[in-house]
Amino acid sequence: MTARIISGTEIARQITEEVRQEVEDLKTRHGVTPGLATVLVGADPASQVYVGSKVKMCQNLGIYSERIDLPADTTEEKLLECVRELNRNPKIHGILVQVPLPKHIDEGKVLFAIDPAKDVDGFHPVSVGRMVIGEPGFLPCTPHGIQVMLERSGVKTDGAEVVVVGRSNIVGKPIANILLQKARGANATVTVCHSATRDMASHTRRADILIAAIGKPRYITADMVKEGVVVIDVGTNDIGRTAKGKRILAGDVDFESVKEKASAITPVPGGVGPMTIVMLMSNTAKAARMAAGLG
Ligand code: NAP
Repeated sequence: MTARIISGTEIARQITEEVRQEVEDLKTRHGVTPGLATVLVGADPASQVYVGSKVKMCQNLGIYSERIDLPADTTEEKLLECVRELNRNPKIHGILVQVPLPKHIDEGKVLFAIDPAKDVDGFHPVSVGRMVIGEPGFLPCTPHGIQVMLERSGVKTDGAEVVVVGRSNIVGKPIANILLQKARGANATVTVCHSATRDMASHTRRADILIAAIGKPRYITADMVKEGVVVIDVGTNDIGRTAKGKRILAGDVDFESVKEKASAITPVPGGVGPMTIVMLMSNTAKAARMAAGLG
C-alpha cells in the first residue's frame, strides 16, 4: 500500500479562506477588527522568522497586528508590564509572546500574566484546564491543527487507537487530551509514549492513528507501524542546509519507508506546519468575536 498524502498546505488554505470570511464578517456586520499582538524579546533568528510570518498572515487576512520587539536584556518586570498593557488594549484581542524567552525571564510567569480571554496560543492554565475538562476555550494551535487535519481528511477518530509519541505541553499532552474528549472529532482510545516508555514499538504497532512529536529525525520506522495506519508527523528537524543556504527539514517519521505501509501520512514540510499558524489566526478571530459578545 502507498499512503494517501494528507496535505496540511491544502487544508490550511481552506481554513485561511474561512478565517478571511469571518474577519470580513466581523468588520462589516459588527464593526470589529480582530487584533493580534506579537511580542518578541531578543533577536533569535528562528523566532524572528516565526513572528514575521504571523504578522504577514495577519496582514493577508485583514487582522490588525502590533509587533513589539524588545531588546534581549529586557527585565521580567518590563515584559510583564508590556503584557498588562496589551491586556488593557481594546484593539488587541489576542496576545502571543514568542518563546523561548531569554533565560533571565520566567516563561511561566509571563504566559500566566496574559488575560485568558486573549490567550490565543492556548497555553494559559485556564485554557489548559478548559481543554482537559472539555469546556469551550482556546485550544493550542498545533494540536488543534492536527485534529482539524484528521477531520477534514476524513480520518475517523471515534473508537480509534491513537498513539502519541511525545508528551510536551505544546504538542503531546494537548493532542492526547483533545482526542480523548467525548466529542465529535475525538472519542479515541489514547496512549502516550515518552522517553521512559518500555518497548515503544509494541505500542506504536497497535496504532490506527500514530502522532509523532518527538524531535528526532526519522525516528519512527516502518517496522514500528502496522499496515494501514494513519500517520501525523509533527517533527520539524533541521538536518542541514541546501547549497543556497535553505534549511532542510525532516520529520520524526521515516517518510519513505512508512508511506509504503500507511494508509495516509502527512509530509514534512507541508503537513502539520502550515496548520499551526492558520489556527492562530482562527483563535484571534474567535477572541474578537467573544470580546464583542458574539459567542
Ligand atoms: P519536546 O518538548 O522536545 O518533547 C519531545 C517529547 O518526545 C518528550 O516528551 C520526550 O520524552 C519525547 N522523546 C524524546 N526522545 C524520545 C525517544 N527516544 N523515545 C520516546 N520519546 C521520546 O518537543 P516538542 O516541542 O513537542 O516538539 C516535537 C517536534 O515537533 C519537534 O521536532 C518540533 O520542532 C516539532 N514541532 C512542530 C510544530 C509545527 O508547527 N509543525 C509545532 C511544535 C513542535 P520526555 O518527556 O520523557 O523527555
